[in-house]
Amino acid sequence: MEASTVTNQILSGSEKGGKTYAFNDGHDPDKPADFWFQNSEDGLVLFIVFFTQACRWSRCLGCNLPGQMASFHVPFTHIMAQVDYLFGLSDVVEKQMDIRKVIVSNNGSVLDQETFSSTALMYLMAKLNLPNLSVLSLETRPEFADFAELEFLSRALAEGETPTALEIAIGFEAFDDTLRNAVFDKGLTLSVFETFLETVAPYGYRLKTYFMQKPVPGMSDDDAVRDISDAIFYLGRMGKKYGVPINMHLNPTYAARGTVLEAAFKDGSFTPPFLTDVARAALAGKDAGISIFIGLSDEGLAVPGGSFVREGEDPLIKELETFNRTQDYSILDRIAKTTFSF
Ligand code: SF4
Repeated sequence: MEASTVTNQILSGSEKGGKTYAFNDGHDPDKPADFWFQNSEDGLVLFIVFFTQACRWSRCLGCNLPGQMASFHVPFTHIMAQVDYLFGLSDVVEKQMDIRKVIVSNNGSVLDQETFSSTALMYLMAKLNLPNLSVLSLETRPEFADFAELEFLSRALAEGETPTALEIAIGFEAFDDTLRNAVFDKGLTLSVFETFLETVAPYGYRLKTYFMQKPVPGMSDDDAVRDISDAIFYLGRMGKKYGVPINMHLNPTYAARGTVLEAAFKDGSFTPPFLTDVARAALAGKDAGISIFIGLSDEGLAVPGGSFVREGEDPLIKELETFNRTQDYSILDRIAKTTFSF
């Protein structure tokens, strides 16, 4: 596909989604957009956001992740240089024996070869032969997970020194169909999701689904809790039906700069969810047969005051981090019964 066609797709998506942010075109293309360490039930996680051309969909309401990326094509040589840069950093070298999971993102679709070159992905796979790596997670829209690419990834992982499970991570955002597609403009139907599950099931891959609690303006806190619990029950049923282990990555929504949520936050039609309600929603996972990870960072992308973390909530954050590591539901029980005053 012509590079200009991809750029036009990004620009028209941004326009449709009412985005007002600028792209990060001045970023050094030989360095990743961001990376950080976090803890999960899998152990130490290295989360990498490679700097590439932005997400081709770009229109989802409230998402400003494409604004961290380039509007132009980033050639594979630069993405490979980002791999070298990252794995040469002393912080990464020192922790490499402890890294159990690597999450690979480009704030879009790592499996979209128009924005993340297959050559660079192969290079990354070779570099990821870390001594104790047990899970590799790749973020993508489901339509880019094609048969040939899954075959190649499966073979590459089998050749590694340690057994490594592959997790495909997709954005779902909201469970209610109207909210997800008519309001949020995610462009994902349940039938596409279930076909995707059927495609990945034979490979034994794991699946991560990203959800947002209270993703659109005008939604009550109770409706937001209900949407997440409905999603948890549905994922539990689908995981059993297709034999795919599923994790829900639950992100409380923040007012992202340069999106309609910024305007809604300013006019009072959107307030970020409370962490107590996030715990209440996640409680539905207790016997659902899926694991849950609660996202606790707004990655610095919220407008001032527009984050879901309110003053004095550090102890609550610590408790939720412990839940992420342990899946101990008594923690959520306790938080959900607590009323905090702000
Ligand atoms: S939510 Fe994902 S698919 Fe939608 S615009 Fe953002 S990065 Fe693209």
